[in-house]
Amino acid sequence: MKMSSMMPDVREVLISSEEIQARIRQIGERITEDYRGERPLLIGVLRGAVVVMGDLMRNIDLPCEIDFMDISSYGSGTSSSGVVRILKDLEEDITGRHVLIVEDIVDTGLTLSYLRRSLLARNPASLEICALVTKPSRRRVEIDVKYLGFEVPDEFVVGYGLDYDGAYRNLPDICVLKPEVFGAGSGG
Ligand code: 5GP
Repeated sequence: MKMSSMMPDVREVLISSEEIQARIRQIGERITEDYRGERPLLIGVLRGAVVVMGDLMRNIDLPCEIDFMDISSYGSGTSSSGVVRILKDLEEDITGRHVLIVEDIVDTGLTLSYLRRSLLARNPASLEICALVTKPSRRRVEIDVKYLGFEVPDEFVVGYGLDYDGAYRNLPDICVLKPEVFGAGSGG
């Protein structure tokens, strides 16, 4: 495959696109087994989960539906404040549904913990979490991720849906940027 023009900004590829695809195939097979006979509703968290959602749903061999939520954590830059605001709510009523939250990354766990609580209040039949990446060393609240892709060290990662300052989401690998890239963007 042609090398991405963004690669000069990358210090290190932590997880290659081939590894990601292989892991998503396995997770899709597990989900297919676990939800056999059901019609799960996959809920993606915008915008980072768009890429994993697209690949994961095509590896689930069941009738399934998707929906998206957009949430924003107050706070800026590369750290989460844990205070979450819903910018776009679900289109679907999840009462009685088998819901699977699809996330790109779990860092402190605060975002997912809030989301999980707020979705449980709507009385789904079941609620599980799938996350492609976790940074266990950063965890501030306990969160049960049933379907997990990879663990990464405490580094800010981009690619495969994850951004820095809005960019790099379309990198096929999960990468760490060179230090000089931070602060060189448009700001914000
Ligand atoms: P948490 O609430 O678990 O601390 O963080 C959740 C959100 O923070 C993620 O959904 C993601 O948007 C952002 N985040 C946390 N760590 C990283 C990272 O290493 N890279 C990027 N691009 N976003 C991150």
